[in-house]
Amino acid sequence: MKLICRNCGYRFETKKGDIPKVCPYCGERNTLEQEKDADSLLHEIDDGFFNEDV
Ligand SMILES: [Zn+2]
Repeated sequence: MKLICRNCGYRFETKKGDIPKVCPYCGERNTLEQEKDADSLLHEIDDGFFNEDV
């Protein structure tokens, strides 16, 4: 799965369920999270659009 660092924006791929605690690039802790793929991202945008202006 793909991970992204919220601190520095560094992206890399790792085995499923294996999220390092420390970013290998900037060394910050607990900044790594799973990056959403394009499909789920589009879904969220759609939902937000429909929910916002009713
Ligand atoms: Zn980082």
